[in-house]
Amino acid sequence: MRIAKRIEQLPVYPFVEISRKIAEKRAQGKPVITFGIGDPDLPTPDSILDHLTTAAREPENHRYPETEGLPEFRASVSTWYQNRFGVDLDPETEILSLIGAKEGIAHIGLALIDPGETVLQPDPAYPVYNIGTLFAGGEPYWMPLLEKNKWLPDLGDIPRRVASQSRVMWLNYPNNPTGAIASLEYFERAVAFAKANDIVLLHDACYSEVAYDGYQPASILQIPGAKEVAVEFHSLSKTYNMTGWRIGMAAGNPEVIRALFKVKSNLDSGVAQAVQKMAIAALNGPQDYLKLRNARYQARRDRILPVLSRIGLEVDPPKASLYIWAKVPNGFTSSTFATALLDDKDIVVTPGSSYGKYGEGYIRLSLTLSDNHVQEAAHRLGSWTPQAPI
Ligand SMILES: *Cc1c(COP(=O)(O)O)cnc(C)c1O
Repeated sequence: MRIAKRIEQLPVYPFVEISRKIAEKRAQGKPVITFGIGDPDLPTPDSILDHLTTAAREPENHRYPETEGLPEFRASVSTWYQNRFGVDLDPETEILSLIGAKEGIAHIGLALIDPGETVLQPDPAYPVYNIGTLFAGGEPYWMPLLEKNKWLPDLGDIPRRVASQSRVMWLNYPNNPTGAIASLEYFERAVAFAKANDIVLLHDACYSEVAYDGYQPASILQIPGAKEVAVEFHSLSKTYNMTGWRIGMAAGNPEVIRALFKVKSNLDSGVAQAVQKMAIAALNGPQDYLKLRNARYQARRDRILPVLSRIGLEVDPPKASLYIWAKVPNGFTSSTFATALLDDKDIVVTPGSSYGKYGEGYIRLSLTLSDNHVQEAAHRLGSWTPQAPI
């Protein structure tokens, strides 16, 4: 049997490898603590779950959903955008339900990119932007995210020839893996850049509701005229601890939304309606819960940060996202540091290099582990001195 080259040539999805290592350690009876995967440990709030259980008993929700999502779901997204960002969206033409943001992110390349066309992608990044590009036969042009640029692509650094040939640009703020944020002023420049070069600007805003110290992330659609070039991706996953239920949305430029709808209507049959009912309740219900949840992540952040500094990692406290992005001490690579932590202390972190070559020299810690595990990890690291390999 022969498997297609596009699959054979794919790198292993980074978390597959981490999950394997964790399983191996646990099989040896080791008390592993993992800062590895960005998957909320806290449950979906009961007030949201109640809508799932009710909806599950209604036979109309047992049938195929529509690809574009229930009209009530799209209306709830529109209302949420208005309340949260002051952005107007037409639920009919500017909003689409997704089976999680990952699904839309992976498929939109098929709607926008022809073989050989260029896509501007950040490095380091969530791996799925590149996967979508590869599946569509596109060519990535990597925009390095560097500390000196506050982890924002330097738009002035993209050669004019590359910019004019590019079809799509990906941005993601609050950012995974760096925890960086983007100002409205930066979004304004990105929108102007996309317009000047006839580029579709795709913004992954999955972490817009996970923020600290009173900071409120913006939507790129707040920029006047952004809808002419931009589509934004959101997810209920990180916002409402709903990763297991699989629902997100794309919003913005109607032409792009229609093209993505066309791809999806040929591939999938939408999001389970009972899950959409849950999402409606989440988006339209009281949002106070987010404050409490974010305070909890913030407390974990503040518990572990001083310990990381003590063991020689350089860190900027993140204002948003689920991640701490830390520079490893001299003498280590991302991977040797992560391995030393796992071997010596049974603590899992993700090497920055698994998010792209510019992630080398950093590790990522996700705050999605129990308060007890954060406490225990802080305790284990309190007595640890990293030994660089010779
Ligand atoms: C978690 C994550 C997603 C995926 O969200 P789902 O809605 O669960 O598919 C998308 N983008 C980034 C940057 C993420 O970290």
